[in-house]
Amino acid sequence: MKILVINTGSSSIKYQLFEMEDHTVLAGGMVERIGEASSKITYKVYGENPQKTESNEVITDHKTGLLRVVSLLVDEKLGVIKDKSEVGAIGHRVVHGGEEFVKPAVIDDTVIKAIERNIPLAPLHNPSNIVGITVSREIFPNAKQVAVFDTAFHHTMPEKAYRYALPSDLYERYKIRRYGFHGTSHQFVSEAAASLLNRKLKDLNLITIHLGNGGSITAVKSGASIDTSMGMTPLEGLVMGTRSGDIDPAIPAFLTRNSEATIEDVDRMLNTRSGLKGICGKNDMREILAAADRGDKTSKLAVEMFCYRVKKYIGAYMAVLGRVDSLVFTAGIGEHSAEIRERICEDLEQIGIILDIDKNREKIQGNRELHSARSQVKILLIPTNEELKIALETHLLVSNDNI
Ligand code: ADP
Repeated sequence: MKILVINTGSSSIKYQLFEMEDHTVLAGGMVERIGEASSKITYKVYGENPQKTESNEVITDHKTGLLRVVSLLVDEKLGVIKDKSEVGAIGHRVVHGGEEFVKPAVIDDTVIKAIERNIPLAPLHNPSNIVGITVSREIFPNAKQVAVFDTAFHHTMPEKAYRYALPSDLYERYKIRRYGFHGTSHQFVSEAAASLLNRKLKDLNLITIHLGNGGSITAVKSGASIDTSMGMTPLEGLVMGTRSGDIDPAIPAFLTRNSEATIEDVDRMLNTRSGLKGICGKNDMREILAAADRGDKTSKLAVEMFCYRVKKYIGAYMAVLGRVDSLVFTAGIGEHSAEIRERICEDLEQIGIILDIDKNREKIQGNRELHSARSQVKILLIPTNEELKIALETHLLVSNDNI
C-alpha cells in the first residue's frame, strides 16, 4: 500500500509518499508561502533515479497546493504513481489531540469536530491541520484518512505531572494542563532505542531529547511517557529557536503593567522573538555556533543557556525515573551537533553519564551509541522520522480497520 503523509501549516504543506511494503519514501517535498504573491513548490523523487524540482508559482489556497502535489506525483516524467487512486491512505499530523485522543484515529466527521473542539488549545496549528484534512478528503474521496496526534504519546503521564498547581476549576472548565508535544518523535526514537539496545521497550527507562527548532525532553518509564517539558502549548520547557521555554509566570503580567505591550504582543514575543533568537538575534544553531567560535559574546551565552536548560531537565528526569538506561539525542541539533551533545553531557560523570568524545565526533549516518564503556547510562543518537512513524501508524489503523 502507498500512504501519503501530510503536515499542513497555516501557509504550507509538507508531504511524503511512502511505499509501505519496504517503508521507503517514493517522493516528498513542500508547498510554501500558500496565499502569498509567489508560492514555492519543492518536489523530490527518491530511490534509484533521484530527482528534484523547484518552482515558484501562484498557489492561492491549500486545495490548489495539494492538487499541484498530486499533479507532480502522477506526472509523466517526474511521477511515481500512475493515478491518485494508488494512494491507499493518508496520514495527517495533527498537533493537539487534547484529552480526547490518546492514539491515532481514522478520520470521520466526529473526529473532525473533536479536533475543532481543541482549537482553543492550539489556535495556530489545529485550524491548519483541519484545512489539510478537509482538502485531502475532497481530493482523495476513496482513501482512508488518519489523524496522528503530537500529544498522544504523552497521555500516560500521571496527574501529578500533567496538572499545573492552579485552581482546579481551571482544569475542569478550560482543560488547562500539560499535554506535551513531539510525541510521535519521542515514541519513534524510544522504539528505535529498544531495537538498538536489543531490549524490550517495556523494560527500558529513557530520557529522549528532541532538539530541533522546537525542543522537548521526555522521561520515558517502561516505554511510556511519564513527564515531558512542553506543556499546555509548545512554549514551555527548553530554550528553543524562537521560544523562551520556562520563565517566571509573573513576567507577562509585569510586561503588560509596565510597558506598552498588550497580552497578544507578549504572547507573540515569547513564541517568535525569544529563545536563542532573543538572546543572540539568530535561531539557526549552525550560525550561532560559528559566531560563538568567532568570539561573539551573545552567541556564546545563547549556547550556554540552551545546554544548561537541557542539563537541568536531565537531572530532574533522572530523579523522577530513578533508574535511567539511556539518553537518546534526536532532531536537527541533537543529531548533527557533536558540540552541543558534548556540552550537555559535560560534568555528568557523577550521575553516571559519560560520553565517548571520539565516538560523539564521528560523522556516521544512522542510529549509534555515543557512550564510553564506563558510562552507566548509555547515550544514543537516533535520527527521528516522524513522517515514517505517521505512515506506520496510519498503515496499522487502516489495515486493522479492513479486517
Ligand atoms: P524542526 O523543528 O523545524 O523540524 P529540525 O529538527 O530540522 O527542526 O532542526 C533544525 C535545527 O537544527 C536548526 O537550529 C539547525 O541550525 C540545526 N542544525 C542542523 N544541522 C546542524 C549542525 N550540523 N550543527 C548544529 N545545528 C544543526
